[in-house]
Amino acid sequence: MPTLRAIRADITTLHVDAIVNAANASLLGGGGVDGAIHRVAGPRLLEACRHLGGCTPGQAKLTPGFDLAAKHIIHTVGPIWQGGSSGEAEILRSCYRECIALAESNNVASIAFPAISTGVYNYPMREATEIAISTVSAAVEGTQVIGEVLFCCFSPGDLAHYRAVLMQP
Ligand code: ADP
Repeated sequence: MPTLRAIRADITTLHVDAIVNAANASLLGGGGVDGAIHRVAGPRLLEACRHLGGCTPGQAKLTPGFDLAAKHIIHTVGPIWQGGSSGEAEILRSCYRECIALAESNNVASIAFPAISTGVYNYPMREATEIAISTVSAAVEGTQVIGEVLFCCFSPGDLAHYRAVLMQP
């Protein structure tokens, strides 16, 4: 069972095998963490993304990390929060499951996730954190490939939240 840990960092600075991007369906860049990743990875990322044909909510697609320290970027599209009765939870679970599956099939030993959908897409932090941790815990059970999972929080409040759910001191 890999270690699951919450840290506070800018995800673009992490030296891991893969970082996850909370992208939008076009995969052609946006604001928030997506914009930050494109800025640091450089223009070759946009060029690579143009050939991916977009991504539906709950799916994930992989590119190289280009100018990032991370080797790969796993792009996933979270649900836009619409009150909770439009299948948002199932789509968010699917994002985490698909990212872990892609990581496994690409020999990713260390992976960092941002808090998918909790920015512009407005998913409530508390519910999103529960889903992130429970889905990833189940998905990595028995893995021979993934050794470390980081939940990369941007604000101190988000970090406190993840740490409480992970029971991490
Ligand atoms: P979404 O559209 O999926 O809501 P956002 O990028 O708006 O995506 O926000 C997702 C989460 O990523 C938010 O919790 C936001 O605070 C966080 N975030 C924004 N920039 C970064 C960054 N550079 N590193 C890590 N997390 C970030």
